[in-house]
Amino acid sequence: MTPSTDRNQQLFDLARKLIPGGVNSPVRAFRAVGGTPRFVQRAQGAYFWDANGQRYIDYIGSWGPMILGHGHPAVLEAVQKAVVDGFSFGAPTEREVELAQQIIDLVPSIEMVRLVSSGTEAAMSAIRLARGATGRSKFIKFEGCYHGHADALLVKAGSGLATFGNPTSAGVPPEVVQHTLVLEYNNIEQLEEAFSLHGPELACLMIEPIAGNMNFVRASVPFMKRCRELCTQHGALLVFDEVMTGFRVALGGAQSVYARAIPGFKPDLSVMGKVIGGGMPLAAFGGPRAIMEQLAPMGPVYQAGTLSGNPVATACGLATLKEISKPGFFDALAGKTTSLVSGLKAAAVAEGIAFCADCEGGMFGFFLLPELPQNYAQVMKSDSARFNLLFHGLLDRGIYIAPALYEAGFVSSAHSDADIAQTVASAREVFAHLAAGSVAKMPDA
Ligand SMILES: *Cc1c(COP(=O)(O)O)cnc(C)c1O
Repeated sequence: MTPSTDRNQQLFDLARKLIPGGVNSPVRAFRAVGGTPRFVQRAQGAYFWDANGQRYIDYIGSWGPMILGHGHPAVLEAVQKAVVDGFSFGAPTEREVELAQQIIDLVPSIEMVRLVSSGTEAAMSAIRLARGATGRSKFIKFEGCYHGHADALLVKAGSGLATFGNPTSAGVPPEVVQHTLVLEYNNIEQLEEAFSLHGPELACLMIEPIAGNMNFVRASVPFMKRCRELCTQHGALLVFDEVMTGFRVALGGAQSVYARAIPGFKPDLSVMGKVIGGGMPLAAFGGPRAIMEQLAPMGPVYQAGTLSGNPVATACGLATLKEISKPGFFDALAGKTTSLVSGLKAAAVAEGIAFCADCEGGMFGFFLLPELPQNYAQVMKSDSARFNLLFHGLLDRGIYIAPALYEAGFVSSAHSDADIAQTVASAREVFAHLAAGSVAKMPDA
């Protein structure tokens, strides 16, 4: 396609003059993989169409929310009805109560919940609550886990465990991250050392239980068990960031997956987002009554939002949760994801490509590596040039996966066996090109 007829390119050129980088969230800009971002015109089921009218099988689903695929009829109807009754009131509504009840019914560790508008807001508020409830300032996060872009969470590891983190973004003063301790994921020894050095000062440990922001890396069961034990022992709260995994890897989230392996396991606080809004701006955080009652207006920890519990977003979230709560939903979804992942593995083996993959529920990840990485440094050993060829090879064949090797993938209930078979066949073609060392097709910019 020549630049003069490529509508994606035209829109991107215009967008870059008006919006920094042409996008409203960095990864959309294709910086990691090169080429022109696809501007989405519309979507239905497992597909979206770009500005040139080209169709793609969508394995991002808005980075997780679209677990039912795009334009699910029951969700569409709920949203259409809600819109007619009003967009936003700044006063409470019945649907907020219904959604709170739904969340509490589905996630046993949550007794009370507060609704907000984004995962960033939910994670930031959960940290504030943990600090307020414990009267402590310091907290632990792990390298490669993303918890939104609140200042204190934009931090990478410092030079040692006695020192705290360094900002990963300009505009974050070092003092703001001086209480954030960044540890290696799945490293029990480091975890124990951190607690022995800082235990009495730690408000919480925040973790993505199955990390989806460094592709797909599970916290090992022994590691998770140790996180729970050390938090309990030192009076720090265990905060699960389930913005991605909540209602996605299982109906009860990743915490239900760990509870199967560790009897009685539960986190103290949970942060939810993405699926909970079904594609609308909605997120939440929740936990035991005694902790949640520390929030304003009951308690001293301030938290608020003009659009929190928005009536259209709650209608969308409720309709989505209702569909995914139907018997057999997650078994069917997990079946699709497993067949995609095993198909990709078989295709890679057939073409002699080093490849590994993992999945849970409707979330998956794969690596051009011989074995599954356990932490961020290992993820970053992936060959990004080869990943970029795979990405563009698939894109050229109408398959849209995350445009960066450190992102997870998502299957929806709308993906058909034929979509998955087509994806696997396309991947095999691209693997064959990779194996032959030939460049499938270079990015077009
Ligand atoms: C997406 C995500 C966030 C941030 O949510 P936003 O709605 O983008 O602010 C936080 N934590 C995790 C684990 C996420 O995947």
